[in-house]
Amino acid sequence: MKRKIILICLSLLVLLTQAVFAAPSNQIKYKVNSFSYSMVDKTDTQPKVLRLEIGLNNATNDFTTNIDSLNPSDLLIDLNQTRVGKIKQPVTLDGKLAKSIEFNQVDQSTTRVTIHLPQEVSAANYKIYTLPKDSKAKKPFRLVIEIVDGPIYSFTAGLNGKTIIIDPGHGGSDPGAIGPSRICEKDVTLAVSLKVQEILRNSGANVIMTRDDDRDVYGPNASDSEELQARVNVGKNYPANVFLSIHANSFTSQSAHGTATYYYEKSSYDGLLAQSLQNGLVDFGGLSDRGAQEANFYVVKRSSMPAALVELAFISNPREESLLNSSAFQLKLAEGICKGLSDFFSQASK
Ligand SMILES: [Zn+2]
Repeated sequence: MKRKIILICLSLLVLLTQAVFAAPSNQIKYKVNSFSYSMVDKTDTQPKVLRLEIGLNNATNDFTTNIDSLNPSDLLIDLNQTRVGKIKQPVTLDGKLAKSIEFNQVDQSTTRVTIHLPQEVSAANYKIYTLPKDSKAKKPFRLVIEIVDGPIYSFTAGLNGKTIIIDPGHGGSDPGAIGPSRICEKDVTLAVSLKVQEILRNSGANVIMTRDDDRDVYGPNASDSEELQARVNVGKNYPANVFLSIHANSFTSQSAHGTATYYYEKSSYDGLLAQSLQNGLVDFGGLSDRGAQEANFYVVKRSSMPAALVELAFISNPREESLLNSSAFQLKLAEGICKGLSDFFSQASK
């Protein structure tokens, strides 16, 4: 009996010692101890910049940057092994480029900096870098975030002056495929297409949409060929450089997943267009790569210009359905498509 008690006491002691030595306070290396911001006036041709400077006691590169998937207008920077010192907050910013910034201890060793922007965050909206300690200017090591006014994203290479037809799949009386949580393909394709339109226009391209709201292009309850031909006819009425149809995939098995792009080889440009779009989508969206494939699809076959049809992801797959329904992910896909178009025009002109 005594022996048992001693054993229990010993194990308790071991557990306690481990708890003390594993305390995360040992891992805290950095402390946020100052914050300031300023407007940087650049030349007339350059956009306005709001510069945020976060001062730390020591130099670190141990941080990650993310866009909040639930609030895509929040830019999140997680500083690892860092505690927040005394900072007066939340700080209200200029309101136009950024609304406010807050510092929160999200766990024992992570400080999260949240910057609330007035619109969805995009990669072109901000720049992050560090500055070393400057003893002369009495400035500590700083993490600098520059928020830029201007287009949400632009790929000027090759896009300026080009005309692109964007065809959001389905619409109106035709919902397209419907996911397990009842998300409709027609809504996802329109949301992504509208984001593509905005980025392309910011990049100097002309965009023609076969539809820009929830409607049938030919008319309600038309036959497939009437509806699809109506979309092809948009290209006959407005000569364009590229025709791009945007869809989401669907399969009987919920496990099917990934991104694919289809083309019909009318000239060597069709395959190049499809492969560029596929690369852009996989790079930005990060889903598995099902490749650029030849197919006999109506709109890509009948369009007179280079054409492709992208299947962004599988709406029949629960994980991909919820990604497709997220505004932040839709923006990533739109950026991937525009990167693909930009690469296509850069290569096609060679
Ligand atoms: Zn479809």
